[in-house]
Amino acid sequence: MTSAPPAPAVPYPDPEHVRADVAVVGAGVVGLATAWELRRRGRSVAVVDPEPGSGASRAAAGMLAPVSEVQYQQEPLYPLMTDSAAAYPAFVAALEEAADGSVGYRTTETLVCGVDAADRQALADLRELQRRHGMAVEPLTLRAARALEPALSPRLSAVHRIPDDHQVDPRRLVAALLAALVAPGLPETCRAGGPDGGPARLVHDRAVGLRSSADGAVTGVHLAGGGMVSAAETVLAPGTGLAGLEGLPGSWRPPLRPVHGDILRTRVPGGAPALLERTVRGLVHGVPVYLVPRADGTVVIGATSREDDLEGTSAGGVFRLLRDAQALVPGVADLELVEAMARARPGTPDDIPYLGRIRGPAGEPVPGLVVSTGYFRHGVLLTPLAARLAARLVLGGAVPDDDAGHLASTDPHRFDRPAGAPPEDPDPAAAGPRHPNRSTR
Ligand SMILES: Cc1cc2nc3c(=O)[nH]c(=O)nc-3n(C[C@H](O)[C@H](O)[C@H](O)COP(=O)(O)OP(=O)(O)OC[C@H]3O[C@@H](n4cnc5c(N)ncnc54)[C@H](O)[C@@H]3O)c2cc1C
Repeated sequence: MTSAPPAPAVPYPDPEHVRADVAVVGAGVVGLATAWELRRRGRSVAVVDPEPGSGASRAAAGMLAPVSEVQYQQEPLYPLMTDSAAAYPAFVAALEEAADGSVGYRTTETLVCGVDAADRQALADLRELQRRHGMAVEPLTLRAARALEPALSPRLSAVHRIPDDHQVDPRRLVAALLAALVAPGLPETCRAGGPDGGPARLVHDRAVGLRSSADGAVTGVHLAGGGMVSAAETVLAPGTGLAGLEGLPGSWRPPLRPVHGDILRTRVPGGAPALLERTVRGLVHGVPVYLVPRADGTVVIGATSREDDLEGTSAGGVFRLLRDAQALVPGVADLELVEAMARARPGTPDDIPYLGRIRGPAGEPVPGLVVSTGYFRHGVLLTPLAARLAARLVLGGAVPDDDAGHLASTDPHRFDRPAGAPPEDPDPAAAGPRHPNRSTR
């Protein structure tokens, strides 16, 4: 087994002063897709990140699961998930053409399994909620399920078939977005400045704070290396890195907590047939686990959900993942373990991202500033929607009703405390619900 390989290296010099129409802080799937959307609409972009694609996007399994990810009392999240899933085919087609490469998008279905009687009941109850929201979930007999996937355990208590939950490979998505960003042939209304110019720049540095003009408008970011990016609009998409940025308007610090996830990459030994065709996920004595098979024979097994201080991979987490994955698919024991890693998901109290314009103390939007973070367990799924909504905010103009509804749900100020409220916990990471150790994506 090897440790996680480094994120793809993209050779760009460290600039001292880059100018672009839009500065995007963070080159995970969200920041990169937003930058690419803006490039497609003729804006020059400077994307700031010391290590593009090295955050949660590097760990993600890439399940696009608007149905099996449904949880109770998260109704405002469902339309975000289903709309973004619906946007995926066109997003992928355009991206693969621009990048001239595959992102591993697969529309194979998902099987959701239970092991004991309580798992079976929990899945049946959840199915009622999913069906009330118009989602397709079909119970299968174990015989029918094993006819589809012979590697499934003969001891499962329940199997549900979900045709609309698909997958993409997030690492290939990042690589394609990086390639598409600098591809020739995109419209160009303004060239980015700096040593090598060009309509899209990757700035390999960390943003340390916002730049502001005398009238309070945000005009770009300061870089750790001493340089700066000047831009009429700045989009903050740094995942959990938001807390490290200086100069956010007023004292705005939304609750955003790191939720670590351990995840494994395995593969079938050379020459052996694929273990699975479909994504298999489920509950093992109440604990979620999943197996995501890629076309190349890799199987991603995930993921724990830890709100402890361990940033590295948890030995206990790896043990539980392998044990529970084998309860669903015994042949996991024959796989080669290729990689174990952990990353932090950017978690919000309601699992809904923060996407919108930041308002100042007087309630007026601060010119030049959009935030897009807090995608928690759904960032890969929500990527096309996140890019579209952030681009709408940057470009201005009328917003269609559906997107206006989404932006109301993602209001970054929804947890602001009313003026005069008693002082809060000084550690914003402590806010929000804390889940016990459990596996999820
Ligand atoms: C184990 C695991 C499994 C997951 N599985 C799935 C899944 O199956 N499906 C799904 O939809 N989602 C999944 N997720 C969630 C998904 O990975 C995240 O929601 C998504 O990657 C968030 O993307 P992002 O671009 O906002 O953040 P990130 O990918 O974390 O990117 C943020 C980037 O910002 C950069 N950055 C931070 N601070 C600064 C700064 N000051 N200056 C410059 N750059 C900065 C970082 O270097 C990083 O590259 C999973 C997450 C984990 C951890």
